[in-house]
Amino acid sequence: MRIILIGPPGAGKGTQAESIKAKYPIAHISTGDMLRENVRSGTELGKKARAFMDAGKLVSDDLIIDMMRARLRADDARAGFLLDGFPRTIAQAEALDGLLKEMSIELDAVILLEVSDDTVVQRLASRRVCSSCGAIYNAIAHPPKIEGVCDICCSKVIQRDDDKESVIRNRLAVYHEQTSPLIEYYDKKGMLHRIDANVAKDFVLKYLETLNAAGNV
Ligand code: AMP
Repeated sequence: MRIILIGPPGAGKGTQAESIKAKYPIAHISTGDMLRENVRSGTELGKKARAFMDAGKLVSDDLIIDMMRARLRADDARAGFLLDGFPRTIAQAEALDGLLKEMSIELDAVILLEVSDDTVVQRLASRRVCSSCGAIYNAIAHPPKIEGVCDICCSKVIQRDDDKESVIRNRLAVYHEQTSPLIEYYDKKGMLHRIDANVAKDFVLKYLETLNAAGNV
């Protein structure tokens, strides 16, 4: 199964990816998580990416494509993968097509999580994440059992710097400008599946199971 999840920040890509990977043995590849890990460990890539991430802007296509070229060839991606946060520009989508061709593999489906800007702002402003394992919480709807402490690994639960309201607005503008053209790109290839991301959390998994049962992924 090789799938792309597309949607604005806060559409629930990370949350959906967590439940999908619990069910299917495929690699969850999140470029945002990979970049944050590089920032944390102070790599050259992390140093270059940080200012863009803090401002809610996209990191340059070249850096992202180099990072993904290596990641897609890792052993755990052989059984399939779920791309979360990549591609984010047409240039990245074209580069991905090239990489997949080199590897003689094909994508099965692109799932678009559709959600309104207002919902995004509301959701992200209350999103909290574990600073260590990346588990996702919501300060209102799904807080950790002990305030500020991750249920899974007991590390600190924080608000991401780019989940502050001013940065959220930037990230949304970037999504509409640079990422939403991908909708037409994949629709033309007949690969796009639209899902209303305002609905229940396990809906994407159920939808995927239907596609799987029908032999479509
Ligand atoms: P995310 O966790 O997917 O919301 O990503 C957080 C930030 O990482 C984004 O706002 C961008 O600055 C950067 N980023 C993640 N994925 C990409 C990508 N595919 N292309 C460019 N920048 C990215």
